[in-house]
Amino acid sequence: MKYNDIRRSTTEVKIGNIAIGGNNPIAIQSMTNTDTHDKAATFEQISSLERIGCDIVRITVPDREAVDTIYYLKEKGISIPIVADIHFDYKIALESAAAGIDKIRINPGNIGDDSRVHEICKVCNQKNIPIRIGVNSGSLEKEILAKHGAPTPEALCESAFYHAALLEKFDFNNIVISIKASNPYNMIKANRLLASSCKYPLHLGVTEAGSKTMGSCKSAVGIGSLLCDGIGDTVRVSLTDSPLEEIYAAQNIFNAVGIEGQCGMDIVSCPTCGRTKIDLISLVADFEEKAKAEGIINIPIKVAIMGCVVNGPGEAKEADIGIAGGKGEAVLIKKGKIIEKISEDSIVDRLISEIKKL
Ligand code: SF4
Repeated sequence: MKYNDIRRSTTEVKIGNIAIGGNNPIAIQSMTNTDTHDKAATFEQISSLERIGCDIVRITVPDREAVDTIYYLKEKGISIPIVADIHFDYKIALESAAAGIDKIRINPGNIGDDSRVHEICKVCNQKNIPIRIGVNSGSLEKEILAKHGAPTPEALCESAFYHAALLEKFDFNNIVISIKASNPYNMIKANRLLASSCKYPLHLGVTEAGSKTMGSCKSAVGIGSLLCDGIGDTVRVSLTDSPLEEIYAAQNIFNAVGIEGQCGMDIVSCPTCGRTKIDLISLVADFEEKAKAEGIINIPIKVAIMGCVVNGPGEAKEADIGIAGGKGEAVLIKKGKIIEKISEDSIVDRLISEIKKL
């Protein structure tokens, strides 16, 4: 079955030069962690993110000075869409729109009276700038929290619809919604509920997910489960780590779900056992790091790195390229055929050079 066959049908939203929702590819997002006022550092980080497959980047815009960075980034030719993360100050949203921002993340219920919401809707409608409503279990409206007693999936959905209604009142429908929670179970339930009750594209993420290890795991459960349901149009893996790691983690989730055309490199490796006679654990770690450094980790191929010739050749047959370890050496397997024996210390470099030739 093709992944698009199970995808939830949604409205289509244009964000700069890409579109999300409908049958468009699921976009991978990240957020800069540089000081937005530091224009050069922010530019550098976005450029690095773009190089490794980030589709949309969000920057925090806490004040008027930070809006200058939007002008700077646009002048410098950042081509991936930039999203301004704005809290409370509607004037910064208007100034960001004037500076050429591609999407605004703001919750209309937090910016004051109707006239302010109306003003934002007017400008964003004129410029075709979408707005993402971002509901977070940690910052739910007091009244909704009191009604539900806890940030339940129902409470999170009610908050999302409350904010959406404020925009819809002014004929604004260029909306993306996200509901995030640090608990993947709540996040999954809330998004399933939301998906069954609206047609807007959804941005998925587990918030405050933790370190690279824990955060990737929680995100794989939260984001991955929803993607398996066909739900989700953009994703962000939130990690207490470099934003670049968020992109790699998202690509790994796409790989695991099997989203055609959007997977990066699928590295298959065995868990090692008493038969393993090469340092497979280091080999796989080194290979992954080098593949990132060489910029080939996004190539959608399957690479098998197996410990021995018992299961190795079988697994490697299914892969585009692979090795099966022996004692201090390995056999190199390409498209199911054993090519030659190579020494253990040349495995990583050889795999890299062979992949570049594929
Ligand atoms: Fe052990 Fe070989 Fe299986 Fe790896 S592939 S776990 S070394 S039997």
